[in-house]
Amino acid sequence: MIKRVYCALCGRLLFKYEKIGKGKLHHLWRGRILEDHSVREGRVVLCPCGNEIGMDLGMRIELRKKAVRIE
Ligand SMILES: [Zn+2]
Repeated sequence: MIKRVYCALCGRLLFKYEKIGKGKLHHLWRGRILEDHSVREGRVVLCPCGNEIGMDLGMRIELRKKAVRIE
């Protein structure tokens, strides 16, 4: 199933992601990210608008739930 992760502040599309299995999306595994429009400041993952949306842990990105909208 393809999920889209949007910035909760500006509405920009940040990720297209292939989700496997049920349940809520809390993190993004690197190998399943189909599109990435986010920017980085070190390990901090940001929307181009400046909203901090998560942390890059290498194999996965942990999302800040309130910073994104997932559809
Ligand atoms: Zn934004």
